Amino acid sequence: MRLVLLGPPGAGKGTQAVTIASTFGIPHIATGDIFRANVREETPLGKAANDYMARGDLVPDEIVNDMVADRLAAPDTGNGFLLDGYPRTVPQAETLEASLAATDTRLDGVLHFVVPDDELRRRIAKRRAEQDRADDADGAYRRRVQEYRNQTADLIPFFRDRGLLHDIDAVGRVEDVAARTLAACRAAVGTSA
Ligand code: AMP
Repeated sequence: MRLVLLGPPGAGKGTQAVTIASTFGIPHIATGDIFRANVREETPLGKAANDYMARGDLVPDEIVNDMVADRLAAPDTGNGFLLDGYPRTVPQAETLEASLAATDTRLDGVLHFVVPDDELRRRIAKRRAEQDRADDADGAYRRRVQEYRNQTADLIPFFRDRGLLHDIDAVGRVEDVAARTLAACRAAVGTSA
């Protein structure tokens, strides 16, 4: 099962990713987590990504694409994978599509977490109050939402045109969203066969 998670920051993708990965026995590949680990360990990849991440910018496509290609070549992706945070731009999506086609495979589906803007704002305000985060977290969040709207949202028509997009109502109790998400995963496999 080869899946991609798509949705704005605060949509709950990370929470649902854990459920999907354990239900279907596929690795959860979160590019942001991989970058942060590399920055922590001061690897060459971490050094290349650090400045972009610190500014809240996207890391250049070439760096991200190479990293993901390496990760997808690992043996634990034999049953598929769940990509979280990638692709984030249309060129990244085209690269992924081409590299899967080169091995005669394709994505089964893209799970698009839909949350209205006012609900997103409520969630972020709640998280900030609970975690007592610094004021500038607000600016960083706004930048990430802007980046999502400017670049990542273009992936919605891109994947819809390919018949891969599954809209998931991501508002409600975590377990209800999980049930809708797992149903969409099963539908994705059914329709891509
Ligand atoms: P995330 O945890 O997914 O929000 O990612 C944290 C940061 O890592 C982002 O703000 C980007 O700087 C970088 N990053 C993660 N995934 C990508 C990607 N697919 N393309 C470009 N930059 C990325």
